[in-house]
Amino acid sequence: DVLSRIDEVEGDVEAYLTITRAEALAQAEAVDKKIAAGEKISFLEGIPGAIKDNICTKGVKTTCASKILEHFVPPYDATVMTKIKAENPVILGKVNMDEFAMGGSTENSAYHVTHNPWNLDCVPGGSSGGSAAAVAAGTAIWALGSDTGGSIRQPASFCGVVGMKPTYGRVSRYGLVAYASSLDQIGPLTRDVTDCANILNIIAGHDEMDSTSSAAEVPDYTKALVEDVKGLKIGLPKEYFVEGMDPEVEQAVRTAIKKYEELGAEVVEISLPHTEYAISTYYLIAPAEAATNLERYDGVSYGERVDGEDLVQMMTNTRDEKFGEEVKRRIMIGNYALSAGYYDAYYLKALKVRTLVQQDYTEAFKKVDVIMAPTAPTPAFKIGEMIADPLQMYLQDVCTVPLNLAGLPGISIPCGKSSKGLPIGLQIIGKPLAEETLIRTAYTYE
Ligand code: GLN
Repeated sequence: DVLSRIDEVEGDVEAYLTITRAEALAQAEAVDKKIAAGEKISFLEGIPGAIKDNICTKGVKTTCASKILEHFVPPYDATVMTKIKAENPVILGKVNMDEFAMGGSTENSAYHVTHNPWNLDCVPGGSSGGSAAAVAAGTAIWALGSDTGGSIRQPASFCGVVGMKPTYGRVSRYGLVAYASSLDQIGPLTRDVTDCANILNIIAGHDEMDSTSSAAEVPDYTKALVEDVKGLKIGLPKEYFVEGMDPEVEQAVRTAIKKYEELGAEVVEISLPHTEYAISTYYLIAPAEAATNLERYDGVSYGERVDGEDLVQMMTNTRDEKFGEEVKRRIMIGNYALSAGYYDAYYLKALKVRTLVQQDYTEAFKKVDVIMAPTAPTPAFKIGEMIADPLQMYLQDVCTVPLNLAGLPGISIPCGKSSKGLPIGLQIIGKPLAEETLIRTAYTYE
């Protein structure tokens, strides 16, 4: 069972921040009893999963992998948790991430690094690195993550699992600790596309507690679990096959796309000309929103406090000691971009470019049904290799952040391995609310 799997490999992988073993055992026993009594159980009932530590779980610590929330125990459940719990799964605990979801390797966790189950010297990706590593290691059957600029898809790609970022607004963000509110979206990380569709069925839908959640009806995503890509028009954006991309990644992705052609899909070259500005745009908008969202950690209303001789000193000490390096860097970038003298030049400009990135997709989707690209330019890199160079780390996000800027859904599915045996991910991008198309397309490949 999964708990003994945790005993076996968690010491090496270190995906978890909190393991709720007693509760998990009680949940499992309750389901066993139901089965013994011959009662019908639902799809997720008794199936063990893990929750990213930025999703509020009533009565269970939610730290965002930050020291500033080290002892924060939410008095309420995020909407996704309420929905998931109604299905009676076994919740194993909370999994590691980059602090406040800022990063792409889980090395920014204030607690410990998580190791890639395929090669323990490598990162699992991030920021939902714990979610992806747990599913890959078999220490969870499914997991929830969040994706602001790639944080579900990139770790899914690095760990060889399926990860979907739904359309912005498809899943309620109520109870997700905010990083960049106009980009954040919760989604599933699973072993296969079938599980992805089933979890999405549970968590999707309108929520009056999140005014940005979509009112669109939720289809039954499992109905999209059919093998059919005949006549599907696939767009290949030349801008996503960037310089510096690992040739093995490009090779694996192109081979996958060939397979789609053999299955009857049609491949069209497309151009998304503003892609080259997406990273700079994202790294202005996300920090700007983060700086605002993280203002609340003032040593008074939430989280830890470090004393000082007066109020200002107390707040300064708290934020200085309890936030990590990357979080502070982003708060500074964000406040700079938002400050009166620079607002027009940076933040406002970024919003305009964001619109151009969106329009690129709108144009492309007049010609194609889905867009395919690598999820990340390289397979998992070594722990410690990238962390000293934040810019280098930001460039890793080139294929994932444009979607978030446009609010589009995307899924990463495994499409091969590098010569070193590390997984490679194929990213499939869809029109707004086209999760069914993504599921059908991904399922056909699988
Ligand atoms: N790597 C990106 C960042 O550091 C994306 C993170 C995310 O999606 N949460 O912001």
